[in-house]
Amino acid sequence: MIVLVINSGSSSIKFHLYKLPGESLLAFGKVEKQGNGDAHYNYNFQGTLIQRKQNSFSFSEGLGKIFSEIINPENKCLNSLEEIDVVGHRLIHGGEQGKDCAIISDSLLKYMNSCISLAPLHYPANIEGIMVVKKLIPRVLQAGVFDTAFHQTMPKKAFLYGIPIKWYKEHQIRRYGFHGTSHQYVSQRACKITGMWLEKSKIISCHLGNGASLAAIKDGKSVDTSMGLTPVEGLLMGSRSGDIDAGALMYIQQNYSLSPEEIQEMINKKGGLLGLSGISSDYRDVLKAAKQGNSDAQIALEVFYYRIIKYIGAFAAVLNGLDILIFTGGIGENSSETRKAVCKGLGFLGIKISKKMNKTLNGCETVISRAKSKVKVIIMPSNEELMIARHVAEIAKSKKKN
Ligand code: ADP
Repeated sequence: MIVLVINSGSSSIKFHLYKLPGESLLAFGKVEKQGNGDAHYNYNFQGTLIQRKQNSFSFSEGLGKIFSEIINPENKCLNSLEEIDVVGHRLIHGGEQGKDCAIISDSLLKYMNSCISLAPLHYPANIEGIMVVKKLIPRVLQAGVFDTAFHQTMPKKAFLYGIPIKWYKEHQIRRYGFHGTSHQYVSQRACKITGMWLEKSKIISCHLGNGASLAAIKDGKSVDTSMGLTPVEGLLMGSRSGDIDAGALMYIQQNYSLSPEEIQEMINKKGGLLGLSGISSDYRDVLKAAKQGNSDAQIALEVFYYRIIKYIGAFAAVLNGLDILIFTGGIGENSSETRKAVCKGLGFLGIKISKKMNKTLNGCETVISRAKSKVKVIIMPSNEELMIARHVAEIAKSKKKN
């Protein structure tokens, strides 16, 4: 079975093409920063690396390029897109009914369209991805795995907001959390490589990408997470504000005479590292400016690191201890500066990392804590795509049986 997984992030599109059973990876790649004027894409077809730069391209152009490379005879991958059995998408919001995996139907698309305001950076990309696939491979089965599903094990005390209970009962206004597939994958892998028993573990997973969230995972189950009803809550992110006093939003709205849409735009697209630094939503750009002495960039990074430390402290209390701390996502996997700044603030948990291991940039699963550290600290490249491929292959198999 050939499975194509598409992960439409807020600033990138990733694709992974698998052959199952056996989970062999035929090709993978990433289109980054589409539309920002500094776009580039990298593909890997069974070891052959292709890199291209382009001024900018739209989301559907980016996806179109991925498809044309998959069937480019030079890449010796597929002869035709018709060879793909199922396309799996990472879907952002499953609500309370969100099962692990669902076939993309007209009613699901309708539901997604009604949820755009819950995840305005992601849902439009999710929907566009599905529509582009529909156009290019009309007969292929499409399925989606919800980012919220893993957090459905959170207890009420963690997911309820302090607002009238009827808002939850009538409209399910509550914390859902996101990056679930990533938190699930890295926590399972971390236990595997450290020999710890998942069912008896206390793990904090830090998914630090353009969007960022933490999850407190007890015995393999999510018990709390930093994102909420929408992906705005929690950490400082690329362009999302993270935690902000709801009262402050009313105050800003009145003082600047902003519409609800403008407020939405501000906290999703104009806040975070971008808002505080005034430079960029991209961590690398902000880091570069901070190193060159830009004080706004320096304070933006301080806020970014501080919030991560604060949430780890809170989640260690929620878990009543900590066995493993995981760093994943574009920043978590690649930025030794972030890991160093965060771990420096966590001495009280008995965390000690090796300077040398922290600087290792091999893109592999790496334990960076020292032997005497009370908590294992691990860099763990996320593999949401493999998790999604497994889920959608199951759904495709059961559809074939019926
Ligand atoms: P998303 O999937 O949410 O769009 P990613 O997980 O791809 O985001 O992460 C994007 C972030 O990772 C950006 O802020 C980028 O600057 C950062 N990043 C990527 N590579 C590196 C690197 N080598 N060093 C530091 N940060 C990096």
